[in-house]
Amino acid sequence: MSELISTSIMAPLGPRRLSLGWEQAQRNVNGNVAFVADLDSKPRTRVSLAEHISNYGRIPTGMTLGMILETLKVSNLTGRGGAGFPFAKKLEAVISSSSKRVPVIVANGSESEPISKKDVALLRNNPHLVLDGISLVAGILNAKNAYVYIKDREAAATMSAAIRERRDRGLSELRITVVDSPGGYVSGQETAVVRRIEKGPALPRFSTERVASSGVKGAPTLLSNVETFAHLALIARFGGDWYRLGGVSKDAGSRLLTVVGEIERPGVYEVTSAATLTEILREAGAGSLKGLLVGGYFGGWLGVNTLADLDITLDETTLNSKRLSIGAGIIGVLAKNTCPVVEAAGIVEYLASQSAGQCGPCFNGLPEISTAFARIALSSNVDRGLTELKAVIPLVEGRGGCQHPDGVIGLIRSTVAVFSDEIKLHKVGRCSVNGASHRSVLLPNNVFASNLTGIATR
Ligand code: SF4
Repeated sequence: MSELISTSIMAPLGPRRLSLGWEQAQRNVNGNVAFVADLDSKPRTRVSLAEHISNYGRIPTGMTLGMILETLKVSNLTGRGGAGFPFAKKLEAVISSSSKRVPVIVANGSESEPISKKDVALLRNNPHLVLDGISLVAGILNAKNAYVYIKDREAAATMSAAIRERRDRGLSELRITVVDSPGGYVSGQETAVVRRIEKGPALPRFSTERVASSGVKGAPTLLSNVETFAHLALIARFGGDWYRLGGVSKDAGSRLLTVVGEIERPGVYEVTSAATLTEILREAGAGSLKGLLVGGYFGGWLGVNTLADLDITLDETTLNSKRLSIGAGIIGVLAKNTCPVVEAAGIVEYLASQSAGQCGPCFNGLPEISTAFARIALSSNVDRGLTELKAVIPLVEGRGGCQHPDGVIGLIRSTVAVFSDEIKLHKVGRCSVNGASHRSVLLPNNVFASNLTGIATR
């Protein structure tokens, strides 16, 4: 084991914190943005356990519950799966339910949003950082079982190899199981993850209880995104104050972002919260701009003309002031020659197809919403589309068993608000984009075969 003992490890500074040792993580701009993986993130040289310890040092032992909670509160670590919930509060909720049942740990790497690749990149490159976070918190909670929920097969294989590597070295007594996510937009929702681990369908469950108090087989369950566990591993090593270095306002640390769309270098980037959208898009090779989808499909739009318009830091306070959130860590870029309303309609069509079919308002209402929105996007009958939306949305909003329908409605509201001038043009049968392309930029081809014209003429 001597080869695993490292000396004088320096805490990483700048944006490359999670991505130390990743093969592609070489470039750095203005100290705040680093390109760390392309979208394929081909499994090549997984960071081995020995390299991992050489990069970061060993995970500390002997931390008490009080110590880790205090450190987490100083760090202000928030979940990286989309909701951005403070991790310390989630941990406290599990602790308060753990007097009668031994808790379970779940790291969610299902990455259900089709354009997101950050979790795959992390799992394929450095599974040990995720395992460090899982092992640390399992030790503190006396948990005996942990699960890593993964959709990508290569990432699942990499994670399994890393678990074996640790087991072979006798480093962990925790039972860690890799569970396959079947994919599908709602398969990554908390209760869907729990059902899948229980060998049920990966569909949301109707429950008023939170998984923190009653999750896997009724046990209190600490369920968070894989990236969150990786940050936890760094915070335990280097402290909450270190984590806040380079952060802006309440936001701290770095985050992995998937940057996609009409840019030269789509991929996964690690950035600090002090990174501006201008810096990120310059590094990603953006040219002409029409709009940015910030946070993913359940995020919101930012209308934009030039890179100079985007001197906006990525911290939540700044983004919230613009009615945005970084959500699942995605930035989708549309260039001047792409109609954002058509693009949004394609995403809405896809999301409507992803209803789990368990709730009437969602199953029946989302296709109606998609049809109405397609009329607006394709200028076939904009007034009729707007009237239909006004009628159907109140019948759907807040009536699903999960947040899926409300997320779709949020995307439509953002599109209508941000691109109102575009919709005015559509009303008179025009579009600011001459010969607007109806291909989908922000949906991968393998999940989408747009039939917008067909549904708009229903
Ligand atoms: S709201 Fe839709 S996605 Fe959510 S549980 Fe109900 S049918 Fe499934």
